[in-house]
Amino acid sequence: MITVDQALAHLFSLVSPLEPEEVPLAQAAGRVLAADAVARRDQPPFAAAAMDGYAVAADAVRPGATFTVVGEAAAGHAFGGKVGTGEAVRIFTGAPVPDGADRVVIQEDVTREGDRITLGDDLDDRAHVRPAGTDFTTGETLPAPRLLTPADIALLAAMNLPRVTVRRKPQVALISTGDELVMPGDTPGPDQIIVSNTYGLKAMLDAIGAEARILPIARDTRPSLEAAFDLARGADLVVTIGGASVGDHDLVGDVAEALGMERAFYKVRMRPGKPLMAGRMGEAAMVGLPGNPVSAMVCGQVFVAPMIRAMLGLGAERASRLTARLAHDLGPGGPREHYMRAHVDDDGQITPEDRQDSSLLSVLARANALMIRPAEDGPRAAGDPIDYLPL
Ligand code: AMP
Ligand code: MG
Repeated sequence: MITVDQALAHLFSLVSPLEPEEVPLAQAAGRVLAADAVARRDQPPFAAAAMDGYAVAADAVRPGATFTVVGEAAAGHAFGGKVGTGEAVRIFTGAPVPDGADRVVIQEDVTREGDRITLGDDLDDRAHVRPAGTDFTTGETLPAPRLLTPADIALLAAMNLPRVTVRRKPQVALISTGDELVMPGDTPGPDQIIVSNTYGLKAMLDAIGAEARILPIARDTRPSLEAAFDLARGADLVVTIGGASVGDHDLVGDVAEALGMERAFYKVRMRPGKPLMAGRMGEAAMVGLPGNPVSAMVCGQVFVAPMIRAMLGLGAERASRLTARLAHDLGPGGPREHYMRAHVDDDGQITPEDRQDSSLLSVLARANALMIRPAEDGPRAAGDPIDYLPL
């Protein structure tokens, strides 16, 4: 059996970053920047008022000083003239600070009568001017690769970039296999259950930037599996679920191989999960996940999501882990790395769920963490730090 990290290294060798494409900025959130975004202007493009008040020469400011108001500058409406000695311009936030002025005295510190203003006794000492280019200047970059957040989108807009270059979304084909499965909403026979894994995996992978398609369920026959692989054509990654063990009805590996997959079959030293199949099928990478619902979701998190991130150009990195403190003592762990459904509370204390059977989706849905016990982990005391994947 190989370790999780060894399996991941092999999976990474099956994928590479996809080609870039241009998208309108309004559709770029959650996409991965594929080329540095370069600011096309300074922000602000002029020294701008940061408060409402009066623009004056800073060296004339002292308690009780008086000025004559010679004009007004509002956002989008610059004052065209120059502020001379003894003069002030009424100014509002966002307006260009006129020539001759380099300070805004806030309106709260001023009394005005007609076009005369008098400064108060207790003036704050800030200029309330945002210098030109204080946020960013022309040529400054937002470097790639980067998963674009809402704040990034605002920044790119301010940089005057209406389109950005991002990685193409990985196309994923999800194939459930099994005679016992029907789609949600269909009427199951007495010996059937409802498919869940493809739905959970689509949600997981779409959320990190893939475009996953749920294909029709493949039955446990060669023609049905062949038809499913045929429908998966065009995908960058084909994920099958179930049928990957060594039972009489576990045909996925055989059929994929007959269709040209160079198969690697691993037993990974992990719980839940174990059998995992992977290889290349023409242009696509192919991964076969175990059928048990929690195994499929955990393997999705541990193996498939990092492959998607690699295809998005975010690097070949395992899923990022956080650390919490054990709420209770734990007995010794087993021989395999164990991803345990667990709950992390607001104080950062982690408690594994009592029931860890890999068929129990309700326990997974309640959990907010997969606590990772290393292989051959010794007994642990309450308060010990332990890694987890947030859910
Ligand atoms: P298998 O790996 O095909 O032997 O499946 C292992 C277990 O997972 C069996 O109990 C299957 O019924 C169940 N199973 C397989 N695929 C799915 C699926 N897509 N959704 C829900 N359960 C599944
Ligand atoms: Mg099956």
